[in-house]
Amino acid sequence: MNKRTDYLVSKLISSHSLTADEYRELIEQRDGESTLRLQQEAVRLRKQIYGDKVFIRGLIEVSNICKNDCYYCGIRKSNRLCERYRLSKEEILSCCRDGYDLGFRTFVMQGGEDGAFSDAFLCDVIREIKELYPDCAVTLSLGERSRESYKRLYEAGADRYLLRHETADEKHYSMLHPENLTLASRMECLRALKETGFQTGCGFMVGSPYQTAEHLAKDLKFIGDFRPDMVGIGPFIPHKDTPFADHPAGSAELTCFLLSVIRIIHPPVLLPATTALGTLEDGGRERGILHGANVIMPNLSPTDVRDKYMLYNNKLSTGAESAQKLHELKEKISSVGYRIVCDRGDFINAE
Ligand code: SAM
Repeated sequence: MNKRTDYLVSKLISSHSLTADEYRELIEQRDGESTLRLQQEAVRLRKQIYGDKVFIRGLIEVSNICKNDCYYCGIRKSNRLCERYRLSKEEILSCCRDGYDLGFRTFVMQGGEDGAFSDAFLCDVIREIKELYPDCAVTLSLGERSRESYKRLYEAGADRYLLRHETADEKHYSMLHPENLTLASRMECLRALKETGFQTGCGFMVGSPYQTAEHLAKDLKFIGDFRPDMVGIGPFIPHKDTPFADHPAGSAELTCFLLSVIRIIHPPVLLPATTALGTLEDGGRERGILHGANVIMPNLSPTDVRDKYMLYNNKLSTGAESAQKLHELKEKISSVGYRIVCDRGDFINAE
């Protein structure tokens, strides 16, 4: 590690923040030694706040119908080869029932921006889940909606909302999305979610097409300023039927490095080791946990739709990725020194 990198690592550890230029330099100049020091500090911080606990969330992929056309995403509107589905209220409740019996105490409803998911429908489902399972948290990840809509969903009982900002750079945002989707609108949604009272999550793909270290530096700055309760990052992985089919995947190494950096910037953050990281490399999720992540989101969707929620090539949904194989996941996580726990796993405000 050269002197400058050593200075940047020490500054990040002591002040939990760098300037955007310094983040860029740190990313560009990272090496084995700096990565290891940041990893050790990230692990120290996560242990101080969350001990050896790893929280699990049951992921229910409620619909792959989407009105958006994000260039990277396998369920984008223009992908005619994607076989569409939408779960009914009964199917969603049946996933929750299975999940509850398996030990899940958070259900995440994630899906495309499907017009059939009206506030009335979603509020009804949320109320029913909370009535049946009052000890569980409900997380939503259903894209951009109006401030009023977010308020209704929150009042119906939803606790958390995940909406990745995707990139904090406006020009880069416009290279990943068609014109009707803007960074300004995404940021407005994130502000609205936080102000409504949701535990709010942002995030981005690592190695998305055209991404530079400068873009990542802006993402890190944004996380430091916004102070989200959750941050979802995972490698970009191409999907064969999208405009980005021929772009290379992001790297597991850079994803893990950034997991450590994010833990240090915002120590109490809930940080998943994502399915994309597990898909990219065998043992990816365990590697994420060892770099400061503390959440895993196994798939609780009905098995017959899992292949249809194909955001990128070869997305995992079987084996330890499947909620039904929780015992396999527990073994894998305990083999690296951590412990899966069955509780809501709320954000701990340690600041
Ligand atoms: N529609 C909701 C939204 O936009 O927030 C939730 C579903 S969306 C498919 C969930 C996340 O999947 C996105 O935020 C994006 O970062 C990630 N994603 C989509 N395509 C991907 C790809 N090719 N590689 C890795 N992650 C991808």
